[in-house]
Amino acid sequence: MTVAYQMYIDGAWCDADEGKRFNSSNPATEEVWATFPEATAADVDRAVRAAHRAFSEGPWSRMSATQRGKLLQRIAREIETMGDELAVAETTDTGKLLRETRWQMRNLAEVYDYYGGLADKVEGQLPPASNSGTLSMIVREPLGVVAAIVPWNSQLHLAAFKIAPALAAGNTIVLKPSEEASAAVTAFAKVMANAGVPQGVFNVVTGSADPCGQTLVSHPLVRRVAFTGGVETARKIIPATANNIAMLSLELGGKSPVIVYDDADLDSVVNGVTSAIFAASGQSCAAGSRLLVQDGLYDEVLDRLVKRAREIVIGDPMGETVHMGPLATQRQRDRIERLLAESQAKGARVVTGGGRGGFSKGWYFEPTIAECDTQDYSIVRNELFGPVLSVFRFSTEEQAIALAKDTKYAFAGGVFSSDFAKAYRTARAIPAGRFWVNTYRLTSFMMPFGGSGDSGYGREGGVHAIHDYTQTKAIFVDVSGARVSDPFVMR
Ligand code: NAD
Repeated sequence: MTVAYQMYIDGAWCDADEGKRFNSSNPATEEVWATFPEATAADVDRAVRAAHRAFSEGPWSRMSATQRGKLLQRIAREIETMGDELAVAETTDTGKLLRETRWQMRNLAEVYDYYGGLADKVEGQLPPASNSGTLSMIVREPLGVVAAIVPWNSQLHLAAFKIAPALAAGNTIVLKPSEEASAAVTAFAKVMANAGVPQGVFNVVTGSADPCGQTLVSHPLVRRVAFTGGVETARKIIPATANNIAMLSLELGGKSPVIVYDDADLDSVVNGVTSAIFAASGQSCAAGSRLLVQDGLYDEVLDRLVKRAREIVIGDPMGETVHMGPLATQRQRDRIERLLAESQAKGARVVTGGGRGGFSKGWYFEPTIAECDTQDYSIVRNELFGPVLSVFRFSTEEQAIALAKDTKYAFAGGVFSSDFAKAYRTARAIPAGRFWVNTYRLTSFMMPFGGSGDSGYGREGGVHAIHDYTQTKAIFVDVSGARVSDPFVMR
């Protein structure tokens, strides 16, 4: 039996204006398990207007920052209550391991607690800008309606880094999940309703890139677009915001390098690299998908990684002992298979994996390692968003850094070495928004993340993210008691 989800607009559950729906399939079984409303431009317009009303008229605009903070903390408590339901929805929809989605739900509550605590700490300033007759102040104000767009992977987590700081700062939200997997985000609206988020403050619209996505990002009442997804989509969103001149942040993909020097600890390298590329089936913006190993350790690192990759248990993402679930979509698996075959034909040498792991149902793909002698293979140049590791050999630090930098992406990176000075030099030399030394994938909501180049711009996470959902207003107040003087008389 399929589950029929509804959108959440202006505090009410609803179907699409024209009644159309689209399907979502379970990646582990390939069966349609849920349907969602296909939002029209009119639905999106209704959601944005509701958010705008809530921002400018509703109880939201009259709530104090402390009250907003308390509301965010109530959201956190609701997440704790509904965490399992949300985790199961996300796993069923995307194939991400249930063990991981459950962990993410616990972390999600902490993100809302954290930004709830920050809500009443957004402070202004009183700079000594003018003469003694003037009080000059800078206040920080919310922007208005925020359009948040998220991809299918870790969707509630990624959405939280937009929703939590935006609401804490006093904005309202229209959120659009991916049409490939909309269940967890849609179910999340229940959390917001149960927590008592006022009508119109949080809205969810489901549907395709166009009209749903494009109408949302170009809507004249949207003041800020927070996007996470692929670079080609970003290229369509940037011109769309020419219509509303909305502020924009872009969290895009990566092709992150992991450098292993001869003096690295081998056990840490094997576990670190395995988690960098095979955790979440490689479907992570921060995946370490290019491994660069120095001559002295090359053979041993490769042997041990191949052995480790072959021990990875692939299977039903609901399973407690499974290490890797399926890829989220068939399109995703088809693309990886095509680019891998193309690269193999040109000389990339697959040393393990490359197949479907013997599964006849489900979009499974084995942990795959390919030795590469050039970065010009399509599996190296493109973000695959799957469990495919390209491995390169290098001799000197300069070579490693040059190889690492030879990409249009700059999202993350990692280095393994027991020489702190060398590791630090390497971390500073490689463009990235996040860099790991002797570890990989470690994260904290208190730390910023984001990229540059084709990995986008802007940073999410941490204290400063809340400022990205505000703008300053400079206010000059005459306190001299004197009348405004004649403007044409110079003093
Ligand atoms: P995608 O770009 O195809 O879709 C992302 C979202 O954009 C979806 O909700 C989609 O419906 C919407 N969209 C698509 N076209 C649109 C348009 N023209 N106008 C408005 N909205 C539109 O990405 P995906 O395949 O869902 O996700 C994978 C990508 O996301 C990868 O590139 C990955 O690296 C990236 N990602 C980045 C981060 C990060 O924090 N930097 C995190 C996770 C994923």
